[in-house]
Amino acid sequence: MIDDRPVLDDHLHLDPDNHRGIDAVRDFARVGGTHLLVVNKPSWHLGVEAETGADFREVFERTIDIVEAASSELEGRAWPVLGVHPGLISRLVDERGFAPDEACDLMQAGIDVAAEYVEAGDALALKSGRPHYEVDDDVWAASNDVMRRAFDHGAALECAVQLHAEASEDMTEVADWAEAAGMVPHRVVKHYASGRLEGPTPSVMSDKDRLETAAERGEPFLMETDYIDDPDRPGAVLGPKTVPRRVRWLLENGYDEAVEIAHVETPKAVYGIDTEATLE
Ligand SMILES: [Zn+2]
Repeated sequence: MIDDRPVLDDHLHLDPDNHRGIDAVRDFARVGGTHLLVVNKPSWHLGVEAETGADFREVFERTIDIVEAASSELEGRAWPVLGVHPGLISRLVDERGFAPDEACDLMQAGIDVAAEYVEAGDALALKSGRPHYEVDDDVWAASNDVMRRAFDHGAALECAVQLHAEASEDMTEVADWAEAAGMVPHRVVKHYASGRLEGPTPSVMSDKDRLETAAERGEPFLMETDYIDDPDRPGAVLGPKTVPRRVRWLLENGYDEAVEIAHVETPKAVYGIDTEATLE
């Protein structure tokens, strides 16, 4: 561990069947990582071409299984974050002949199933969002409807919702939708965020520039790698050792308070998890 501190990667993926799976968790733990939020891989990356909400269960169950295995490698623990990747809408509309409203129905059904796992205590939070690339207006509207369904569940279950969305430093409109649905807006987390963001809580990609911005700002933030565990896309994201290494770097540069914010205070405020009490 790093000075007995909890070190949390807020967003990464693990593939139980291909590539490195649990070895990536061992790498993370070896350099001082203690806690992980493991997000299910996009359904089609696991070979699942969902036709009903129930078809997402296979994806969710595999994530829950690997999270259990990951927890046994950590001095802290791992939790699953479950949902439907917003890029699925393009796959449905462009390749499988769905109308945008049909795609919306299927993706909302998947979110509904993910919410069942949160309600049962088997997952910590939901994952939703909208395409980070340009799409037609009706696809954009359908994507926003899917995201708002996730906010409805976030409000009812009092859980966080991680978003995959376009690059932006102002997502106050989206935070307002979450609030209108009944959520506490800081429980909306934008993954792959830069160092500053208005609206949701930023889950900052752990490169030095972005982290320095977040640390100087002094506002709540989280740290992530979006490690994808995909052998076809090595280097598309950061490796599993990155968050612990950057924590060391932040501490060496006097950002002790930012480390406390990102690994203790913000996880507590956003997810209701106690990263200190869950250390061995
Ligand atoms: Zn991701």
